[in-house]
Amino acid sequence: MSKDGAVLSALVEALSNGTVKVVDLTETLRPDYPVIALPPQFGQASPFIKEEISRYDEERGPAWYWNNITLSEHTGTHFDAPIHWVTGKDLPNNATDTIDPSHFVAPVCVIDCSKEAAADQDFILTRDFLENWEKEYGEIPAGSWVFMRTDWRKIVSPDNWTNVDADGNAHHPGPDKEAVEFLIERDVMGFGTECVGTDHAGSFGWDVPLPCHTLIHGAGKYGLQCMTNLDQLPPKGAVVIAPPLKIEEGSGSPLRVLALVPA
Ligand code: MN
Repeated sequence: MSKDGAVLSALVEALSNGTVKVVDLTETLRPDYPVIALPPQFGQASPFIKEEISRYDEERGPAWYWNNITLSEHTGTHFDAPIHWVTGKDLPNNATDTIDPSHFVAPVCVIDCSKEAAADQDFILTRDFLENWEKEYGEIPAGSWVFMRTDWRKIVSPDNWTNVDADGNAHHPGPDKEAVEFLIERDVMGFGTECVGTDHAGSFGWDVPLPCHTLIHGAGKYGLQCMTNLDQLPPKGAVVIAPPLKIEEGSGSPLRVLALVPA
């Protein structure tokens, strides 16, 4: 067998004997799942809507069950492509149907911000914080995803998951401009989060508004958001499988995000 074949055989063996496990980082698509809300003057993303076509019933379809679904490209656990942002609109291979598919399987570095996010729901991930992570775990390799772990499901209540306060302001952590620039310096694959968006909830008013969208997508890199179970990943050593739907000129897509994790 070729050397490459041996690698895949070893992976299959590891999956079957449990020394590599598959962790699901995906939220269930359901009607009550929160969708990011933009200021009211802008267009809005559709929540997930499921409409039954038939369910083993005589007239609509006696032997089968299926649904029509309505959703936006940015509903539920989803992928952001560079074309999503104006800064990435002219890049080559910037949409869900044209991105190099080899980018959909990549290693991941997980930055544990769970204590900080529990203490401060407006926690800002800084370059210093990333550099301290590197002191412990080594340099973030080029081509890696970087995920900000916050254990967000333990912090906010499920019925206010986007964490909008009484004054209508959303609160969730995110990286500042310098942190995003550092990730681009490291030539990461992209940035992922458990929160409703990759950017800090308060970043609309920053010098560079929404730096993660603005700079990451401008650099041809990707985003993942509304993930869960990041507490089941090691700081380094897991591999993420995150292929968006192949939507023609898609700006993003709901997807199943899986991680291969050494047991
Ligand atoms: Mn999005």
